[in-house]
Parts: sequence; C-alpha cells; structure tokens
Amino acid sequence: MSVDRVRLEKRIGELSAIGGSGTSVTRLGLSPEEQRARDLIGGWLRARGATVWRDPAANVYGRFGGAGPAILVGSHIDSVPEGGRFDGALGVLCAVEAVGALLDDDVGFRRPVEVVGWCDEEGARFGIGLFGSGATFGRLPDGAAQRADRLGITIAHALRTIGESGDPTTAKREPGEFAAYLELHIEQGPRLADAGIPLGVVSGIVGILHARVTVRGRQDHAGATIMTAREDALAAAAEMVLAVETAARALPDAVGTVGEISVRPGAKNVVPGECVFSLDLRARNEQTVEQLARDVRAAIRRIGDARGLRSTLDVLSRVPAVPLDPKLRDLFLRSARAVGVEAPELFSGAGHDAENSQLAGVPTGMLFVRSTGGSHNPNELAALDDAVLGARALSLALKELAG
Ligand SMILES: [Zn+2]
Repeated sequence: MSVDRVRLEKRIGELSAIGGSGTSVTRLGLSPEEQRARDLIGGWLRARGATVWRDPAANVYGRFGGAGPAILVGSHIDSVPEGGRFDGALGVLCAVEAVGALLDDDVGFRRPVEVVGWCDEEGARFGIGLFGSGATFGRLPDGAAQRADRLGITIAHALRTIGESGDPTTAKREPGEFAAYLELHIEQGPRLADAGIPLGVVSGIVGILHARVTVRGRQDHAGATIMTAREDALAAAAEMVLAVETAARALPDAVGTVGEISVRPGAKNVVPGECVFSLDLRARNEQTVEQLARDVRAAIRRIGDARGLRSTLDVLSRVPAVPLDPKLRDLFLRSARAVGVEAPELFSGAGHDAENSQLAGVPTGMLFVRSTGGSHNPNELAALDDAVLGARALSLALKELAG
C-alpha cells in the first residue's frame, strides 16, 4: 500500500499555510481562505484524473470512475478562528492520499470514488454547523441562506461572491447516489492519546440539545434593596448552572455545559434584572439526552419557584444521537488491524459531517486519528506517523469497498 509519507507531509504544510500563521489556522466557512483551500485540493484531484467541481453550497468534489453509486470519502476544509492544522483538514488530506495510493498501485475502481471537501463544518462564522454536508444531505435548517455573519453578510451573499447562485439547498443530492461515506478525523478528545493508540473507530456520534435559558428577576438598587426583598436573576442563574453540572454528572456518558452567560443591565450597583445563558447537553443515546433535558428543566423550574422568579427555556437545535454503520465500523477495525493497530471503538462527543450522511440513509463509517493537544486550538497535532497509519487504513477500506 503505497501511501506516500513525503507527499502527505508536504500537502499538510501546503494546506495549513492557507489561513495559517505558525501552527494556527483561521479558515472560516465561505471565506477567501476556504476558497483557496478548495482550489488547492481540486488541483491535486484534477492532476490525478478526477472530474472536479464545486456545488452550490461550495463543497468541492473530485470524482473518479463512471456511473453508479459512489464511495464518498473526505472531511471539511474550514477551521474555527485560531484553530489548528488538522481538524477537518487531515480527513481531506488523507482521503486524497488514500485515493492517490490506490491509483499509484494501479488498483482499478469497480465503483466510482468521490473525494469531498465539505464547506463550513464548524459554523464559526454564520452559526450553522455542518453546513456543506447539511446542504448535500437535505438537512439544512430553514432559512439557512439568510443567516448572517457579524458584519451582516449572509450565506447567500457569500455564496454569490464566489460565483454560486446563493441557494445552498440546490446542492442536495440523493442518498442513493452514494454507496457509503467514509470520514477520517482527528479525535477531539484525549482518549487515544491517553491510551497510547494511534487510531480509533467511531461507533456513533452524540445527540445534542442546544437551548437558551432566560431568567427574569427584578432590577433594583443594590444598596437600597434588602436581601429578603430581591429577585436577583443572576443569583438564580448561578444556582441553575450548578444544577446543570449536577444533572449531567448523575447520568452515564452525559455532559452538560453552560458556556455563555449575559446579565442585564450589567452594572455593579444594580441587582440583575435578567440573565440569559446557553445550554449544551449531550449524551450517546437519545434516552439519556431526553432524561438530562428533563432533569435540567425540572431543576430550573424548582430553583425559579423557590426564588419567586420566572424563567423560560427555548430549544435552539436538537441533533439526534447517531449510531454509525456497523459493517463499516467492522471494516475500519479490520483495516486498522491490517496496518498493525488494535483500534478501540470510540463514541464521538463532537458533531461531524458524518452524522448528516448517516441520518440521510448513506452507510457511514468514521476513523479517528490520535491528536495530542486536543483540537480547535493551534496545538492540535496528528503526528506524521499517525497520519500515515490513518491514510493507509483509509486506503485499505476504500480498496475493499471500491477496488
Ligand atoms: Zn472537524
């Protein structure tokens, strides 16, 4: 299996230079940097004989082979602000390398293979995560094209700027066009690094509930309002935040996070009248997500009642937990073993483009590569040895499905 270590290393450097500074990479969705990355990847694929195109949601594809359902392989090419060189990028680089290795070995494709670089997976600019794959698999939220970034530029406008129509929903493809989707991605947590194992196979992706909680108290003078007469929205919210932590700790494989909080009016001599905080609840199965949501709602109500103030919880998004395809999981376990790695099965606590394909009915498999230094930061690091192992395992899996 002739995965080319030098070629892979060179391309990691070339791609990370786009939007990069040192080991930090900023390549936001639908930015000029993301477009340059698409051009670079498209050029590599075209040079190997692929038919390359960009779709109306700015995903880049390179197709090898003729008609019929394709094996889709890839990941996303955008990053978070001041992210690293590997989140998303490594999956595209290894997909290009895995196909390149098969072509170098003169493996004929009995099925078409499409390499994809998804646009705007992170949602860091417009607030819609998994944008490109969501468009392809018909899972974009309503009105996505009108969502704007901080400068007021909408997705539709950003798409028109690069020459697309501005309607990302027309990127939708039928699930029947694909026989499988394979994605390699760095692990975003420390489990592989802690275990000293370079590869892991993803068995499923967590369910996520995002919500916004608004606590309404009464704004009052901080000096003149005696303690027993207050309706302090922030003090109530503080209790609620701790209740989220307690509720998540009480359930197996559940996590709950309050990552944003705002206080109105926000002055040191005013009892807070209103407090708004975010809620991120996740678990590996649907019952646990629902249980956690129920427990958190009950705690918020109880705390509000005890303090005599009102609160509301608005659900902003809900992504179901997604078990990935068991046959492709086994294929990745075998492929990892063939390159000398007893890969553990892992559950992904982060969302991935792979959930859109699986939810649309395309059998989907995911391979994790160890990252020391976590992810979404400039320190994320997939060692070249590990990246090569990942590319080889991916290439073997691709060969079995399409070769
Ligand atoms: Zn990613």
